[in-house]
Amino acid sequence: MGTTNANSADGRKDKLNLLSSTQLVINEALKKLGYNQDMYELLKEPLSMLTVRIPLRRDDGSTKIYTGFRAQHNGAVGPIKGGVRFHPDVNEDEVKALSMWMSLKCGIADLPFGGGKGGIICDPRTMSMGELERLSRGYVRAISQIVGPTKDIPAPDVFTNSQIMAWMMDEYSRLRANDSPGFITGKPLVLGGSEGREMAAAQGVTICIEEAAKRQGISLKGARIIIQGFGNAGSFLAKLMDDAGAKVIGISDAYGAIYDPDGLNINYLLDRRDSFGMVTPLFEGTITNEELLELECEVLVPAAVSNQITAENAQNIKAKIIVEAANGPTTLEATRILTERGILLVPDVLAGTGGVTVSYFEWVQNRQGYYWSEEDVAARLREKLVASFRQIYNLSKNRNVDMRLAAYMVGVRKMAEASKFRGWI
Ligand code: GLU
Repeated sequence: MGTTNANSADGRKDKLNLLSSTQLVINEALKKLGYNQDMYELLKEPLSMLTVRIPLRRDDGSTKIYTGFRAQHNGAVGPIKGGVRFHPDVNEDEVKALSMWMSLKCGIADLPFGGGKGGIICDPRTMSMGELERLSRGYVRAISQIVGPTKDIPAPDVFTNSQIMAWMMDEYSRLRANDSPGFITGKPLVLGGSEGREMAAAQGVTICIEEAAKRQGISLKGARIIIQGFGNAGSFLAKLMDDAGAKVIGISDAYGAIYDPDGLNINYLLDRRDSFGMVTPLFEGTITNEELLELECEVLVPAAVSNQITAENAQNIKAKIIVEAANGPTTLEATRILTERGILLVPDVLAGTGGVTVSYFEWVQNRQGYYWSEEDVAARLREKLVASFRQIYNLSKNRNVDMRLAAYMVGVRKMAEASKFRGWI
């Protein structure tokens, strides 16, 4: 079986950082596609990385300087596309890796975009709405020269939402003295947002679960699902799975996990969830996140943070299907172990394409000035994702490679070809 070659045996080395593991798989994918080392040199890092320092007037009158980034991986296919995250852990390497993942996602979903990602090192949980608004506007002023509806189109990501997109769109429109809804996606509906954008990420994961279940001969009716993480992706997903008749038997948040073999009451949990996705403090006798991952189930969805399934616990996973709703939850060595054990692993770069796909629809609608119904958006999303899933699954079977490597092969192919046609390489 052709798999990516992380350092085996040693579980600690297995936890490569996101940038180096992404580079490793891109290199492998390009080799399999027959490209030479020059192509890897072009694609191994973003073509451009802007660092900005944003002065913010705080509510108490003092000034604080925040650092922000915008990475643009490769614009050979079209304008750059990707979210902006506000988080204390944002750093340059992570933003670079995430911009490369956006390129892969755009390639996989066959969107006319290259990948980008932005971020600001900050903790929105400790900031007032006024401060958040001034920071969002300051970021747009700082990056205004490199973004725009045909250059680079930002979107929401971790701890950013439609309100922040609205402020950013307003700032950009004022700077250009031109109403510019197509500058950013993930906007509120009244400002040119798309129907279905909010649920799009969870919808994408759901479609992948359905497709994977078909391939593994599992019926979703009554299937046992475990979801690690109860943030936006995890909680919407729990609802969609519950509505589809599956039995969500375990969920977790940053504090711990809860489990009920007869199925959890998802509506009750959604009702009690706080704005940061915390629910377990409500319960006594909760289990740990580590224990949750190893429970008996049909489908396991890591929807929290990276490096959760590693060489150390991959042998103990009992799920038949793993669908990665988080970024990088499974290490490369764990991917190898799981694939060898016959577990179908749907990688993040495929399962995570729902959000950007509907962002693409939003951008198209903004450019047309004509808006689609929720049913239209859902049907087009399904059509795209089912096709991407099929292509990657078949490639993985035909070439005898794991789903991650197959997804990377599909993800880089268009970008590599476009770079060649443009004469960049
Ligand atoms: N931040 C999301 C992602 O990582 C969405 C990006 C977009 O909508 O452009 O896929």
